[in-house]
Amino acid sequence: MTVVTFHRVLRRGDARWETALAPWTLEEAAFDQCLEFLKRHYSIVSLDDVRQALKRARPLPARSLLLTFDDGFADNLDYALPLLRKHGATATIFITSDSIGSSERLWTEDLLWAVSRGRVSQRQLTCLHTILIGCVREPQDANLIWNIVRRGPNYDAGLVELVLSTLDIDLQRVRSPRQMLRREEIATLVANGIWIGAHGKTHSAFPASSDVAVELSHPRAVLKEIITPYGQGTVDALSFPHGAYTLEIADQALSAGYELLFTGEPELCCLDQGYLATSLIGRLDADARRIAPAGQFRPEMLAASLFMAARRQPDRGSRIAARARQHATEIVRMTGYGLLAHLWRRLLDPRRSAKREAR
Ligand SMILES: [Zn+2]
Repeated sequence: MTVVTFHRVLRRGDARWETALAPWTLEEAAFDQCLEFLKRHYSIVSLDDVRQALKRARPLPARSLLLTFDDGFADNLDYALPLLRKHGATATIFITSDSIGSSERLWTEDLLWAVSRGRVSQRQLTCLHTILIGCVREPQDANLIWNIVRRGPNYDAGLVELVLSTLDIDLQRVRSPRQMLRREEIATLVANGIWIGAHGKTHSAFPASSDVAVELSHPRAVLKEIITPYGQGTVDALSFPHGAYTLEIADQALSAGYELLFTGEPELCCLDQGYLATSLIGRLDADARRIAPAGQFRPEMLAASLFMAARRQPDRGSRIAARARQHATEIVRMTGYGLLAHLWRRLLDPRRSAKREAR
């Protein structure tokens, strides 16, 4: 099973476009083409299908693919939903409960954008890190910004605002149109066949969080209240903010009632005759800079990142898959994705694989 992660789908001209983070934002037209590509090469399944496969109640079809969105951006309703409906596809949105109804996105995303545009000096960033995180770093330390991004949402909003204004950092936050989904909008998504999962309470990385138990329980309770009237009983899927977790945290999440845990590890999930063998599921990030540079969808780039991803566990087909990937890597350089898609289908088809293994 392949799981793909998206974040935002926007239109140029939308006031949120200018400050959106390039790797995680696809233009509407590129997302449309992306869905067309995915429909052609995969069976798009729902979160419930994956859940049933974990319980061994119903196997997943061959070449199954789950579409996921992280964070809970309002544009998922505005731009992604109409295209999902156009292609008859479903998706799962993992939502950070503190962000629900917020007109702004996380301050750390605004900071990331400001840093990428050179609007925050190294001195300002170093001071911000020292005050918030409490340890002194060299200004050229590349981890400065990521440390703040992973821990920042955990800090009190008033304190953050005070520190930012003291350091004269203006994040130029976009508040209109609203950035994050409201409760009613989440309900509309569910009524339109979208599945909802949790993405923490604050969006800080769990290993750096001051209260992992609340990061797990808060979104589960808040989202359950929203989705229950629409027939989605429980919130039993979680994606780790920043993909960050430890095995202890994964255990804690299972004890808290989650059944499916989505990581950021770029790997395919191996199935046993269509059934899921593990609750920990890797995902492949749809990096907009790679798959749609300058807004132009590049199917060969998406094909390369999906078809050649590593598998989580060795299984009967893995030797063949590895050979196919190696062969395909050479060929894709010369011919584009058409032949790669053909090879991928031939070599990874479970019936053909079984015949090859038998020989
Ligand atoms: Zn996230």
